[in-house]
Amino acid sequence: MSTTWHILGAGSLGTLWATRLARAGVAVRLIVRDENRLNAYHAAGGLTLVEHGSASTYAVPAETPDSDAPISRLLVACKAYDAEHAVAQLAPRLTPGAELILLQNGLGSQDAVAARVPQARCISASSTEGAFRDGDWRVVFAGHGYTWLGDAGHPVAPIWLDDLNAAGIPHEWSTEILTRLWRKLALNCAINPLTVLHGCRNGGLQDHHCEVATLCVELTELLDRCGQPAAAEDLQQEVERVIQATAANYSSMYQDVAHQRRTEISYLLGHACKVAARHQLNLPHLNQLQQRLVTHLHSLGLPSD
Ligand code: NAP
Repeated sequence: MSTTWHILGAGSLGTLWATRLARAGVAVRLIVRDENRLNAYHAAGGLTLVEHGSASTYAVPAETPDSDAPISRLLVACKAYDAEHAVAQLAPRLTPGAELILLQNGLGSQDAVAARVPQARCISASSTEGAFRDGDWRVVFAGHGYTWLGDAGHPVAPIWLDDLNAAGIPHEWSTEILTRLWRKLALNCAINPLTVLHGCRNGGLQDHHCEVATLCVELTELLDRCGQPAAAEDLQQEVERVIQATAANYSSMYQDVAHQRRTEISYLLGHACKVAARHQLNLPHLNQLQQRLVTHLHSLGLPSD
């Protein structure tokens, strides 16, 4: 019998993965926060995926973290700031050699999770797929994309990538997953905080070309110092390309702030500044950007960690 996928977090990405796996006949179980959420889930009758305008509901079985069935494969689909605590709750249920797939954006949460579960293999993911919740237990598949998966400590691809093929989840095994995560983090640092501070769509940063360019110089220095020269290559050109290609979009950080939601700043700009300090690298514009963003978040009553 094939190994069950436990999905931790029934939010946007968790639902996007759970529904597509379930649709392909793969065994999936959802882990929700607590008994209240479980009752609400049962009342809803399943997870709904809205794709190309049509909605389908899948009655994926669900449980709470304190259920006692062992877990061999866990997709961690929480926000970066919730991942460590959420996984720690499940540590006693993990089988020896269990595998975790970490969907968190940014860097920092992956190491924190891995330290909590040394008996498990942790696989990081970087995804360009996009989804959002338009109701409880209901997710809209907004942007088709790709997911890169990799394990910095162990280059061999796991056999369960076949389940992703069956589910139609576009993916690629990457032996350079850290480079991908750093590159995405750098793009995020150069774009997202400025969209929040200037209150604009991504395209609005075309009016702040110098500010963006200065950040790219410092981010390139940081990536080089961290042993990630491939992530630094032509960074500024790619940042400008992304700003142009996504000119009409609001960045994820902008949307979080606009909806009064906690941001993942600590795992993005915060992580970049922390690593720079660890390397005794002086990056004044990046540090100033972080301070401005923290002040802005505080002024809105939002957490800055
Ligand atoms: P989300 O919609 O907020 O979903 C997170 C889910 O985790 C929520 O359902 C939350 O439960 C659940 N959760 C948190 N702590 C939990 C716990 N202890 N036990 C059980 N469930 C718990 O977040 P998301 O947008 O899917 O993002 C997940 C990660 O993927 C983030 O790092 C994000 O940056 C990254 N990402 C997202 C997208 C996207 O398009 N959404 C794209 C690329 C990358 P409640 O519902 O009870 O709050």
